[in-house]
Amino acid sequence: MSAPDRAVGVLLGAAVGDALGVPYEYGSRSLPGPGEPARMLGGGLGGYAPGQWSDDTEMACVLAEVAATGADLRTADALDRIADGFLRWFADGPADIGVQTRAVLSAVRPGPGAAARLRARAAELHERTGRTAGNGSLMRTGPVALAHLGDPDAIAAAARAVSALTHHDPQAGDACALWCLAIDHAVRTGQLDLRVGLGHVGPEWAELVDEAERCTPNRFGARNGWVVAALQCAWSAITRGGGFEEGLQAAVRAGGDTDTVAAIAGALLGAGHGGSAVPARWRRRLHGWPGLRARDLTRLGVLAVRRGELDPDGWPGAPTVRSYAGASERTVPHPDDPGVLLGGVGALRPGVADAVVSLCRLGADQAPLAGVAPEDHIEVWLIDGDDANLDLPAVIADAAAAVRELRAEGKTVLLHCVHAQTRTPVVAAAYGALVTGSARAAALRRVTAVLPSACPRPSIVRGWLGSAG
Ligand SMILES: [Mg+2]
Repeated sequence: MSAPDRAVGVLLGAAVGDALGVPYEYGSRSLPGPGEPARMLGGGLGGYAPGQWSDDTEMACVLAEVAATGADLRTADALDRIADGFLRWFADGPADIGVQTRAVLSAVRPGPGAAARLRARAAELHERTGRTAGNGSLMRTGPVALAHLGDPDAIAAAARAVSALTHHDPQAGDACALWCLAIDHAVRTGQLDLRVGLGHVGPEWAELVDEAERCTPNRFGARNGWVVAALQCAWSAITRGGGFEEGLQAAVRAGGDTDTVAAIAGALLGAGHGGSAVPARWRRRLHGWPGLRARDLTRLGVLAVRRGELDPDGWPGAPTVRSYAGASERTVPHPDDPGVLLGGVGALRPGVADAVVSLCRLGADQAPLAGVAPEDHIEVWLIDGDDANLDLPAVIADAAAAVRELRAEGKTVLLHCVHAQTRTPVVAAAYGALVTGSARAAALRRVTAVLPSACPRPSIVRGWLGSAG
C-alpha cells in the first residue's frame, strides 16, 4: 500500500539525519544539552550551509542515481557506473571525506573497469594497513535495498559489492548487508527489525545486535568511526523508543561521528516511518551535491523501487502530470487568513504567491514554481484515498505547520492540491484551527463555506477530526 512513501523515506531520512548531525561532527560544536534538540545549523568539519547534507548523502546520491535507472547493482556495468559516480564526486572536491575513501578514490582514474580498479586499491589498502572497517560504506548503503526490494539474496550481494569498492574489510560488507536487509523489511512491512538479516552475516552479529539494544547510544559514541560501533550506535538510538525524530535526535546525541550515525539511523527510520514522517521544516531546507533538494531525493527513491519506470501519469519524471489538464486556475482567500490562497493545481502560476504548499504530485517543471525560492515551495506526500496514508493526522498537522511557518516569515502562500476537493480544504481547516484556536469541525465549515470545489473525502475528514490534538 504505502511502500513508495517508505521507499522515499530511505534517502530523505538519511539526508535529514546527515544535515542534523553535521554541526556536531566530532565535537565541531557541543552536543545539544538535555531537552534541547539538535538543529540544522550547518558548519561541522566541511563548513556546510544550514540544511546541507555532507559526504554520507552525497555518496548515497551516486548509488540512488544508478538505482533509479532500474540497474541490477550486482552487475559489472552498474558497479562501474557507481565507481565513476564516486570518482566524479571526488573530482568535484567534496568539503569532507573519510580517510579511507579518500585513500582509495584519490588513486584511481574513471572509465571502463573503474569498479575493478577501486576494489583492487581498497584491497591493497587493507593489506597494507589491516584497518579498513571504517563506517564510510555503511553511511551510503541505503539505496542498495531499494534497487532490489524483496530479494534478500540480491540485497546482501549488492550491498557487499558496493561496499567493497572502497572498504575491503568483510565487517564493512556484513554491516551494509545487515542494514540493507533491515531497510528492505522496513519498506515492505513498516517494521524495524535488525535481526531479519542475521542469516546473511557472520554469527558474531547476533551478539552485537543484542549489545546495541542493551546499551545506550553514547556507549558507542567514542568509537563510532568503526563500522561495527556506528551500526550499533544507530540501532541503539532507534531502539530507545519514540518515532522518527526521537531516533535521529538520539543518534546525534551519542556524539562522535554524529552526521554519519544519524544518516545511517535515518535511512532505516525513514524506511519504517516513511518520507512523510520527515517534517516539512527540515525537508524544505535540505540540499546538497549534486545540486539536489528533497524533491529530487523523492524522485530518486520512487524511481529506484519502480526499477526506473514512470507511472501512467509520467510521474515522477515528466514535466507535468498528465491527468491534471483542465484544473481550475481560481483561488479564494483563506477565511481566517487572507494571506493564504486556496485552489487547485491550475492556480500554480508565476506571481500567484510568495510561497507554495503543494498537496499533490507535481511534474519536474512544476516545482519550484518560477519566482518562488526552492525552500519556499514545499511538497507534501498526502494521498486522497481511503487508508492511503501512513499517518494521516501527522501529515495534515505538518502541512498546516508549514503554512504557518511560511506566513510567520511574512510570505503569502498558495495552498493547493489537484482540484481543491479534499486535501486543500482539510489542510486549510487544520491551519485555521491552528491559528484561531477554534474547533476543527468549525474551522472546516468556515473553509467549505468559501471554497466551492470543497467536497472532502469522508475517510480523510474522519481520520483528521478523530485524531487527538
Ligand atoms: Mg559526513
